[in-house]
Amino acid sequence: MRQLIVDLGERSYPIYIGEGLLEQAAQLFGKHAIPVKSPIMIVTDESIAPLYLGKLQSVLEGAGYTVHSFSVPSGETSKSLEMYERVMTAAIQAGLDRHSSIIALGGGVTGDLAGFVAATYMRGIRFIQCPTTILAHDSSVGGKVAVNHKLAKNMIGAFHQPEMVIYDTLTLKTLPMREVRSGLSEVIKHGLIWDRGFVDWCREHAEQLLHLDSEALAYALYEGCKVKSYVVSQDERESGLRAILNLGHTIGHALEAVAGYNELVHGEAIAIGMVGSALLSQRFGYESEIHRITKQLFERFGLPVQIPAHMETDAILEAMMHDKKFKEGQMVFVIPVHIGKVEIRSDVKVEWVREVIEQLKG
Ligand code: NAD
Ligand code: MG
Repeated sequence: MRQLIVDLGERSYPIYIGEGLLEQAAQLFGKHAIPVKSPIMIVTDESIAPLYLGKLQSVLEGAGYTVHSFSVPSGETSKSLEMYERVMTAAIQAGLDRHSSIIALGGGVTGDLAGFVAATYMRGIRFIQCPTTILAHDSSVGGKVAVNHKLAKNMIGAFHQPEMVIYDTLTLKTLPMREVRSGLSEVIKHGLIWDRGFVDWCREHAEQLLHLDSEALAYALYEGCKVKSYVVSQDERESGLRAILNLGHTIGHALEAVAGYNELVHGEAIAIGMVGSALLSQRFGYESEIHRITKQLFERFGLPVQIPAHMETDAILEAMMHDKKFKEGQMVFVIPVHIGKVEIRSDVKVEWVREVIEQLKG
């Protein structure tokens, strides 16, 4: 088992990563003095429940916990106020008290939803993350929890750090291949912003990662979480540094907004976005090698590096303006300086972005 501490003073917490950790959940709960007297509630989704809910529930019940559970339909639409209210209702009916814990068993959707319930139930109770997707190495660390508003994503939320993160790599074996690649895109992002050596390691271990080799996966998740937790510990509430985690996201979010349902998943959209940021970096005189390396890396992982030709450049630009601050024809972007280092630039000209979008269409 690998262990990493997210250093946030009195809100610090560990991330445990390893194969079969759900089996050890009761010991970890004991170690963190999660009280047996208060009922707990596992929030999960309908795809994950038949695979792993029974296991986690029986392990915890075996240790004397009273365990309730609530499954939401799979997918982003569950991150809604309506679903939030339903989970709240279930928590009240289950009799959760101030000393209870809410456990998220699932990907980023479950984590964000359950976390927001935990942040607000009786003004905040304990929250434990059990991520089951690769992408959730990102979402389960850092304490951002939220549901979507009809008009905008993640609009209603809070900062609520978990008590611990229990990352059982065995659960990743059942992930659909597309979700595997999508999650690895965020893992690679953590290398691109912070650690060239890790980027090289990812390139060399692409096959093992795509085949879900346990050792390789545990190492990649550990390194990805390490970058994320370091950045979060420097800037918990995103007043500066934390924004570097948005590499590829300005273009990526716009593509997600313009793409039809399921045309691009998040990791795919940001892979294209990161290739776009690498192109933009040339405007600041940085090496064209950054673009070549970034593009080849994502190709190696079977991720898209081009914008689907039918997407309108104007529509993508408009979605970006909607999403991000821009003034007088300039935009804020995370720009690679070299592989393993980025900077935040607020002087990216909209016309450069337009050209990059055209270039990305091939
Ligand atoms: P997700 O939770 O929807 O999971 C993706 C799909 O995989 C779902 O259909 C799910 O049912 C299925 N699944 C999950 N685990 C599985 C398993 N082990 N085996 C088989 N199927 C499984 O999505 P995600 O990609 O994990 O997360 C995306 C969400 O995370 C978005 O809502 C995004 O906004 C959020 N997010 C939050 C943060 C944050 O800091 N809070 C950061 C990044 C992303
Ligand atoms: Mg992301």
